[in-house]
Amino acid sequence: MRVLKFGGSSVADGQRIRNVIDIVAEAARKGRLAVVLSAMKGVTDLLVSAARTAERGSDEFRSVLESLRAQHFEAVRFLLAPTDQSATLTPLAIMCNELEGILHGVELIRECSPRTMDLVMSFGERLSCRLITAAMNTRGMGATLVDAREIIITDDRFGSAGVDFERSYALIKERLDAVAGIAVVPGVIGATEKGVTTTLGRNGSDYTGSLIGAGAGAEVIEIWTDVDGVLSADPRIVPDAFVIPEITSEEAMELSYFGAKVIHPYSMVPAVEHNIPLLIKNSLNPSAPGTRIASAAALRRDTTRPITGIASIEGISIVNIEGGGMMGIPGFAARIFSALAREGINIIMISQASSEHTICLVFRTSEGERALAALNRELALELETRRIERFELLRDLLVVSVIGENMHGTPGMAGRLFSALGTAGINILVIAQGSSERNISFVIEEKNHFAALRTIHREFLAGHGPSAAAPRA
Ligand code: ADP
Ligand code: ASP
Ligand code: MG
Repeated sequence: MRVLKFGGSSVADGQRIRNVIDIVAEAARKGRLAVVLSAMKGVTDLLVSAARTAERGSDEFRSVLESLRAQHFEAVRFLLAPTDQSATLTPLAIMCNELEGILHGVELIRECSPRTMDLVMSFGERLSCRLITAAMNTRGMGATLVDAREIIITDDRFGSAGVDFERSYALIKERLDAVAGIAVVPGVIGATEKGVTTTLGRNGSDYTGSLIGAGAGAEVIEIWTDVDGVLSADPRIVPDAFVIPEITSEEAMELSYFGAKVIHPYSMVPAVEHNIPLLIKNSLNPSAPGTRIASAAALRRDTTRPITGIASIEGISIVNIEGGGMMGIPGFAARIFSALAREGINIIMISQASSEHTICLVFRTSEGERALAALNRELALELETRRIERFELLRDLLVVSVIGENMHGTPGMAGRLFSALGTAGINILVIAQGSSERNISFVIEEKNHFAALRTIHREFLAGHGPSAAAPRA
């Protein structure tokens, strides 16, 4: 069995969906398949904005809903013969009406809880899967739509639900074994034990693909997207970025954690635990070999390349906590972390000077104000007694992360990195390096984004791209 996951970019419109169906039809000739699908491109964002509009008490969500309906209906008309269309348009229309009812409820009560938001977002994948399963079946492909909520069981942390792996794997196996042809599973969606709809987080369809693969005991999990594989940097920022043919799961996880959107960071875990390789492929260029992600032992990596890739996260803020009052007091850091954890704030990076005089915390700006408030509350006494100095949020920053197994044990990497940035006139605010030496991360001003990434790429990766014998497609 193979799992093929197609992202929103691959199912953006009727033409792209036709393309996906061709790829699936070809793959189905070689054996059993499960297909995991995202919502059509842009639909999840539209659903979130419709819910937020309704929450403000505005009925403008109806026009958002209208464009969503039109996007799906247009794809049906493109893909299906006129005689087949109404059998698919009717269930899609019923789902859109149900969604309208939910959003009307949100408008009336002017509240959209995380639970309701998950239900609203689930319509994206449910609509795309209903549509694409129907299109496959008009081509006689024998596809069965499987409700992800019956096989992916989660807790009730809406918006980013935690998976009950044992139960989910058993249910995935049992359910998929019962499907004779191609199983189509909506990405990102799960349900609690009681059957309440949850989501696994934005971009979570990759994670669904990996969970389905692990549960079904797949031989490979293929993540089909709109680029030729995992690239050495975001191609929109570094035009010289090239495809990395093989990458360890740890490197892939670091890259995705630090912003490489091509794969969701959690996706590596189920695959690696079950020894299943992940393959990143381009649905617009299926003949390109793609990127293989597996454990280091299973790969033939290029050991001459000093680094593997570069990633970055925009919209970053930092807080610098300074003062003699922290020195030699055990548990100070623990208090800070607990206060932030209670607020559900995610710390992206930490750096502490060895004098224990300063701790620098790095957040997403969207969480920065809450973080600042939580720290001010927790440290009120220290601030009042001047044991620590007043602190503030510094905004408009960027985290850059340089990643690669080959950095391990190679002296001079950090020196080379920071002197290249220094020569380019880029100032570094915070630095952190994990003891695995797989990752050096640092914070700079957002205005230096392009210059920094291009400088690093040139410094470490110039001449390490594909040879003339293996051109990028
Ligand atoms: P999908 O719709 O298939 O889930 P995404 O938009 O989530 O696709 O992810 C693919 C996009 O990730 C690419 O189009 C590319 O712009 C972006 N990207 C960012 N960093 C990288 C990287 N290092 N390698 C490949 N793609 C990257
Ligand atoms: N449609 C969802 C999102 O945009 C999940 C995904 O595409 O992976 O977040
Ligand atoms: Mg994605």
